[in-house]
Amino acid sequence: ERLTIAIDGPAGAGKSTVARRVAQRLGYLYIDTGAMYRALTLAAQRRGVSPHDEDALAKLARALTIAFAPDGDGQRVLLNGEDVTDAIRTPAVTADVSYVARHPLVREAMVEKQRELAKNGGVVMDGRDIGTYVLPKADVKIYLTASIDERALRRQREMEARGYRVDLETVKEEIAKRDRLDSERAVAPLQKAEDARLLDTTGMTVDEVVEEILAACRT
Ligand code: C5P
Repeated sequence: ERLTIAIDGPAGAGKSTVARRVAQRLGYLYIDTGAMYRALTLAAQRRGVSPHDEDALAKLARALTIAFAPDGDGQRVLLNGEDVTDAIRTPAVTADVSYVARHPLVREAMVEKQRELAKNGGVVMDGRDIGTYVLPKADVKIYLTASIDERALRRQREMEARGYRVDLETVKEEIAKRDRLDSERAVAPLQKAEDARLLDTTGMTVDEVVEEILAACRT
């Protein structure tokens, strides 16, 4: 049986690292829904579409093709065929993405794409509203979190690996702000699904988290 696995949680909880590894171990497809909202945000910025223009953003979302291509240990993100893997991780995209993602019409268009990608099972999908809204019938639901200090440290290391120098307080403020916007929006806010397993990864290694999720898949 090919399962559907939903992983949600706040910024910097380690969702993508862990979700990618779980998918690799199971031979499943990994779908990073945050990358999809980021790709839309990048497309909007390039066209001069405001992050507050819901109709224009929704129209753009419906017209875009977003695809994932395996690449060694990771994967590339393709926006209308163009490799935007690095371009969607800039501070400029990060600063706008939660504004873009809070519009109901934008979410409708993106959720349609996400459900289409997951329809055959054998997927690990991570995001903010996967267990609650996108895939409410997922076989396994995990809500990953960690202390704000640990999440900020992880995000800082990730940014540094990408060549950005950022101070810890700034990173902490950025993720706290994004968590606030994501939790307080009207449609499909960041929230633990009632039937999701809560996993606080503070002090845990990636391997430990991956093993816990794989164990949850076996039960
Ligand atoms: O996971 P990542 O940090 O790349 O997500 C970027 C942003 O995309 C989140 O802060 C959130 O605003 C939005 N998002 C969302 N719903 C999802 C995944 C991401 O609103 N399922």
